[in-house]
Parts: sequence; structure tokens; C-alpha cells
Amino acid sequence: MFKGIGFLMKYTWRFEKRFIIYQILLQILTAAVPLSDIIIPKYIIDELTGARRIEVLLGWTGLLLAVNLLGSWLISFFQGNSFVLQSRVFTRFQTMMADQLSKSDFARLEDPQFLDTKAKAEKFLYANGQGFGVVLTSAFNIFGKLFTFVGVVAVIATLNIWVVLGFVALVLLNAFYESKVRRQATAWDLEKAPIERKTGYFIDLVENFSFGKEIRIYGIKDWIVDKVHEHLCESERFYNRQTKLRNKARYLSDFTNSLLKGITYGYLIYSVLRDLIGIGDFTMYMSALMNFSAAMRSLMESLLTIRQFGGYYDALKDYMDVPQRMYEGKRLKAPAGPYELRFEDVSFRYPGQEQDVLKHISITLRSGEKLSVVGENGAGKTTFVKLLCRLYDPTEGRITLNGIDIREIDYDQYMKLIGSVFQDYRLLAFTVKENVSFQYSDEEDDGRIHDILVHSGLRQRLETLPRDIHSHIYRTFAEDGFEPSGGEGQKIALARAIYKNAPVMILDEPTAALDPRAEYEIYRNFSELTKGKTTVFISHRMSSSKFCDHIALFKNGRIAEYGTHEELMAQGGDYRELFDMQAQFYVQHH
Ligand code: ADP
Repeated sequence: MFKGIGFLMKYTWRFEKRFIIYQILLQILTAAVPLSDIIIPKYIIDELTGARRIEVLLGWTGLLLAVNLLGSWLISFFQGNSFVLQSRVFTRFQTMMADQLSKSDFARLEDPQFLDTKAKAEKFLYANGQGFGVVLTSAFNIFGKLFTFVGVVAVIATLNIWVVLGFVALVLLNAFYESKVRRQATAWDLEKAPIERKTGYFIDLVENFSFGKEIRIYGIKDWIVDKVHEHLCESERFYNRQTKLRNKARYLSDFTNSLLKGITYGYLIYSVLRDLIGIGDFTMYMSALMNFSAAMRSLMESLLTIRQFGGYYDALKDYMDVPQRMYEGKRLKAPAGPYELRFEDVSFRYPGQEQDVLKHISITLRSGEKLSVVGENGAGKTTFVKLLCRLYDPTEGRITLNGIDIREIDYDQYMKLIGSVFQDYRLLAFTVKENVSFQYSDEEDDGRIHDILVHSGLRQRLETLPRDIHSHIYRTFAEDGFEPSGGEGQKIALARAIYKNAPVMILDEPTAALDPRAEYEIYRNFSELTKGKTTVFISHRMSSSKFCDHIALFKNGRIAEYGTHEELMAQGGDYRELFDMQAQFYVQHH
């Protein structure tokens, strides 16, 4: 239960020591100030009902005010600053988690089990949406309330130890019931989570701009709104059940509270009537006992909160320990170029799948060679290049770079060797320049980036943009941001790969969204674009294979045909069939 707290404290201490120190001082102060409110009034009342000396009355009142004012000032100071520091700790935690995630195996990101772990880890960190720091503050609260406790108990114990014990028993009874209620509520929360996730998805569908087309054209709004309604009703049933249960717990605690008050008043009145204590003592014990039960409840509350979220801590640990296999192993330095890449009997199966997507692939890419990969949808072409990029590692066999298994080469160094344009490239809502360079680069670089973009076929578009390469992509952050068309986006993605100027170039249908003229331009510049680079080129445009050195035709995860364009045409197999089919189509329709 407290392991999670240990974890939080350790990192918080590492990130921001002052936060912990301030919290401790804050807790001590919040415990100490009320103590003065409990004890000092007794002396004032004693004086009022006794000697009535003005200077003594003034002295006590002055002390009370001084302690209160100074205490409040200090509390405000520490509270305000803790808030700032807490947000700093929070940012550091977030950065750490993001760093963790970006280094985790790519395959994890599509693993539902891992996504679950992630969600639970976040439940721990953000206390189920109550916000970061709730669990941590609960821990500090426990410390503070223990402090109050010792003080108050010391006061009450001078009266009667049995009263203290009776109070403890009643509070524990409350806590016991409350913890049962909470456990049930948490169980229902978990049950409710999938429904809420679905509701969230549907609501997102309605609100999200990118679904707007389908929703309008297919008129599915009513259908979705009905679904939202259905799920909301189901959530409501959970809320009703939870509320009923919580109310029961509240009724019980209200009752025990009244009981406590009754006992306190009864016992203290009895003591005064019997002349066992004076009026001053009466007020002191009264407020001590009331403080006692408040502190006890708050303590229980914090303990229960920690217990409630402690269950999620294991998930956080799993999340923090997520394998980063890409960063394990030998981490050799990348060899110097030129680069020869080789697949040696490589088979691959996606995690959780039943079948191999690649089966015993052996192929060599000599330095500077251009390989065209063709084949029908689902043949394994993209998977082949994903392995080359180490987004996944082979299930069997190995891929070598100049004879070294790529798993043994330092991951970051290997990544430096590869430039790629994937079918599902993503642009970020930054400037065009930032999208191409992905790093801080000075103005000297502007000219080069501009040239590359012009080379990728964006000359005319750049001219119409408000700030050339410094124009924003998308309107997320800039009102005059530009929404690239599919083809324009692909050109920017291509520019990225050219800018990186890596020795190995991977192009997965980089012209699929381009108009014929733009595609023609790219093909015309192809040899210049890939000059001296080992290149893998996936394309459904069969004619593009002609300017590659070799062609590999993938079929059902195997290389079914391999050779030059002329060889494969002469062979008269699938390649020839696909080629003729497309050629015929063009001839007929032109
Ligand atoms: P191609 O690029 O030749 O069209 P892919 O390499 O994309 O083919 O896909 C090959 C097969 O692997 C397909 O049957 C596809 O469904 C499957 N596949 C692709 N990506 C994944 C993935 N992330 N998880 C599971 N299966 C996948």
C-alpha cells in the first residue's frame, strides 16, 4: 500500500526537493495553529471567570492573534509555493513518462494489454482524474494529521483516557464501513470504464472535425446520438447505484458524529457540574475533542485514498519497466558506409497474431542499389520495410548491415542511417520548416529547406503561403495555417526524407497521392533523389520498377520473383502479368 507512496516520494525528491520540504512545514503549521485555538481560549476564560486581570487577558489574546496571523501567513506562503512546485513536479513526471513511452518497443503501442497498463498507471498518477498529486498530498496529510493527533491526544488524555479510546473505536467503525463502500465503488468504476470509453468515443465522433464528412454525407448523426444516449443511460444506472451506497455510508457517519457530540457534551457537562473541571477546561476539551474527530476522519480519508489507488501502483511499475528492447544488447557503433543490407532467412509474425506475415525472406541490397518491391495488397511489402527500420525485430533469422546484426547496432545510430517516407506519414501542427527539419536549425538552413521543398514539387504552393517555409501547417495554432492536400502532404514528407540525407532511403508508395505531373517529376528526379543511397521503393505503379536495379515481387509473405525488369518480363510470371495489366489499362484509356 505504501510502496506507491515511496515511489512518488523518491521521484518528487529527485525532481523538486523544495516541494517536499514545503509540504512538511505546511503540515506542521496546519497542525500547530489550531492547537493554539484549542489551548489559549481556556486561559482567557479562566481569567474571565477568575481574577479578570486586563494585562493577562491582553497577553493571551495578543498571543492568540500573533500565532494565528503568523501561522496563516506562513501557511499561505507554503501553500502558494507548493502549488507552483507541484506543477513543476507534474511536468517532470509527464516528461519522464513520455520519454519512457517513446523509447518503448513500437509493437507495445498497439498492444491492448499495454494500453490498459498505461491507463491504470495514469489512474494512479492522476488519482482517477482528481488530478496529479492527490495521492501524494494524501500522504503528506497523513503525516500532518498524525501531528495534530499527538497534540490533541496529549490534551484530552489529561481528562480521561477512556474517552479517547471510545472516540477511536467509533471513528474506526466509520472508516471500516467507508472502506467497504469505497471498494465497491472502485469495482463499479472499473466496470463502468469501458462504457465511458465508448461514450467518449461516440461524443468525439460527433465533435471531431475529421469525422464531419462521413457524419454529414451518410446522415449518421441520429444513429450516433442514439448510441450516446443508450450508453449514458447505462452509466446513469451505475451512478445511481454508487450514490445510494455512498449515501448509506454518509448517513452512518452523520449518526456516529452526532453520537460523538452527544457523548462529549454529556460527559463534559457532567464533569463541570461535579466541579471536576472549570468552564475554561470545558471549552478546551470540547474543541480538542471536535478537532480530534475531524483529524481522525481526515486521516482515515487519506489512508483510504492511498489504499484505493495503491492497487494501481503495480500498473505504474509495469509501465515504468516496459521493455525497451531496442536499447538493450550490445549497442555497437554503426559501421562506416557504404552500406550493404541483407535479410538472412527472416520470418516475422506480428505480436498476438496466428500467422507469419513474412516467411523466410533472404535478400541482399548492395550499397547504392535500388530495389523495387511490388506485390498485391497484404503481401508483406510494408512489413518488410518496417523490419528494415527496426520498428519491429524479426521473429526468426536476422537482418545485417555490413555483416553486423542490426539488433547489435546502437539504435539511435542506426536510425540516423535511415530516411523514410511511409504511406501513413504524419505532419505536425508546426511550421513547414519544422516539419521538414524536425530540429532547431538556424536561418542558414532556410535556403536549403526551401530548395528541397521546391524539388519535391511545392514551388507554386510555397509562393501562395503567407510566410513561405515559416507558415504553419494546419489551423490548430495559427488562423492562417495551411491545410495540405494529400499530395502536398506527401511532398512535405518526401522533403523530410531528402533533408535527412541518410544513406538508406525507404520509400513506401511515396507518390500514391500525387497527381500525374507531380509523380512524373519525382520519377524524373528519382536517380538524383536517391543518388548514392541504398533505396527500397514500394510502388503500385509498375512502370516505376524500370528505373530500379532489382525487383522483388512479394506474394503471401515470400519473395516469389526476383530480378531485373527485363529478366522478370522474360520470365513471364506474376510480374509480367501485373505489368501488362497496367500497361494495357493505360493504352486502352489514353
Ligand atoms: P502490403 O504492404 O504488402 O500491402 P503489409 O506488410 O502492410 O502488406 O501487411 C501484410 C499483412 O500483415 C496483412 O495481412 C496485414 O493485415 C498484416 N498486418 C500489417 N500490420 C499489422 C499489424 N500492425 N498487426 C497485425 N497485423 C498486421
